[in-house]
Amino acid sequence: MKKLGFYILTVLVITILLPTVIVKTFNFVPKETPSIGVALEKETPEEKIEQEKEEKEPVEINYDLEKVKVYNPKTNAVEIIPIDDYIKGVVAAEMPAEFHMEALKAQAVAARTYAISRNLKFEEGHPDHKLAPLCTGIHCQAYLSLPQLEDIHGESWVKKYWSKIEEAVESTNHLAIFYDGEIIEPLYHSTSGGRTENVKDVFAIDLPYLKSVSSPYEEGAPRFRNTVTMSIDDFVKKIKSKYTMANIDKNNVHEKIKLIERTATGRVKKVAIDTQVVDGRELRDLFELNSTNFTISLDRKLNIIEIETYGFGHGVGMSQWGANGMGKNGKNFEEILKHYYTGVEILPIK
Ligand SMILES: [Zn+2]
Repeated sequence: MKKLGFYILTVLVITILLPTVIVKTFNFVPKETPSIGVALEKETPEEKIEQEKEEKEPVEINYDLEKVKVYNPKTNAVEIIPIDDYIKGVVAAEMPAEFHMEALKAQAVAARTYAISRNLKFEEGHPDHKLAPLCTGIHCQAYLSLPQLEDIHGESWVKKYWSKIEEAVESTNHLAIFYDGEIIEPLYHSTSGGRTENVKDVFAIDLPYLKSVSSPYEEGAPRFRNTVTMSIDDFVKKIKSKYTMANIDKNNVHEKIKLIERTATGRVKKVAIDTQVVDGRELRDLFELNSTNFTISLDRKLNIIEIETYGFGHGVGMSQWGANGMGKNGKNFEEILKHYYTGVEILPIK
């Protein structure tokens, strides 16, 4: 039998549980377009978003809107911070200050909404940090104080960008995001890779406003697409370090790793490693991948494994790079938020 140069692991195979396929080229999964590209629907944000111009009644929030209590895991201390200062520090820590003003405003409203919803939900302290409902790490949402930002980015950054961040926060500081009268938990992430994810496919909850939507303006994002390459030996070694019982070696690897299920948006949900079925997230962690939207290919000639990922982060809610793209394409912060959070309203709070 003629030996073929390339194999592609079945993780590539879009059809569920298809047996291992041996093909000659990588064309099996197009390289130039995201594998989720086919899922992009005709839905246009313009159609979904109706501009609501009339004055809205402020919603009363059962929460002191002046200050936030934040746990700093580095110092193990609790800090009380005026909320606008906190939101400025979150916007600056979570989003590049070079981003479009409307994206920064959308981030500011999302960060404020998240802070308030966490405070309402975990008034007595978050189960993971009982001293406060929020922490300064990415566990909740990253926060850096102005002196910390100056340390990291330098004085010229502060001169150039701080007033822009202040404007994004102060011009939106009366607003929060609601669904059906309730303040929402607005998850966000760096880059979706072309389409955001349904929350129920990532976390063990289902929320009506965290549905999969297209995210069409992300192509410029640095982590839109990424490739990790390693020798077949290293790949097998890593797999065996975690799945010690797996009967996998260099020669049978293409038969022993099989895609079981992808989510509706193309992210890997379940993979079989020999006889064990694991979450796509486990492989993401094991190989430190940017997301679970990945394909694995094997090249026998070059003796390498290539893992290609789309997007960065969990993929749920607002894509920050998508928000920047929408801003550059003339959308305002309300349109951005209503695009990524299905069926929500942006309302004044008091
Ligand atoms: Zn936290």
